[in-house]
Amino acid sequence: MEKILGAYTIGMLQDLLMLRHTLERHRKSFFDVEEYIEQQIALRTKEKVRKKVYMIKSCPVCGTRMSFSPVNTGPRNQTGDNSTAVFYCPKCDEDYWETRSIEEIVKDLRKEA
Ligand SMILES: [Zn+2]
Repeated sequence: MEKILGAYTIGMLQDLLMLRHTLERHRKSFFDVEEYIEQQIALRTKEKVRKKVYMIKSCPVCGTRMSFSPVNTGPRNQTGDNSTAVFYCPKCDEDYWETRSIEEIVKDLRKEA
């Protein structure tokens, strides 16, 4: 066992046992945990991308930092067209609609920066 578990601290192994008990109680498996981790990572990546875009796009009219909102991502932000996001200037009301994917927008903003 020392060879297999030596890399883990006793605390980590105790957490693992607690996790196993919790999973058993809710009739879940480590496969469900794996799925949950993947979902959480995807969510955090999206949030990071959103924050990054917010930080670096300024209004072409007045230079104020524009807010950034992805659209058509769920039932509550449907626009009825193929928009992916909107940049909006809180100072002069300038808006700029995007149809490119969020990943493409970020890539181009990096080039501009
Ligand atoms: Zn502006």
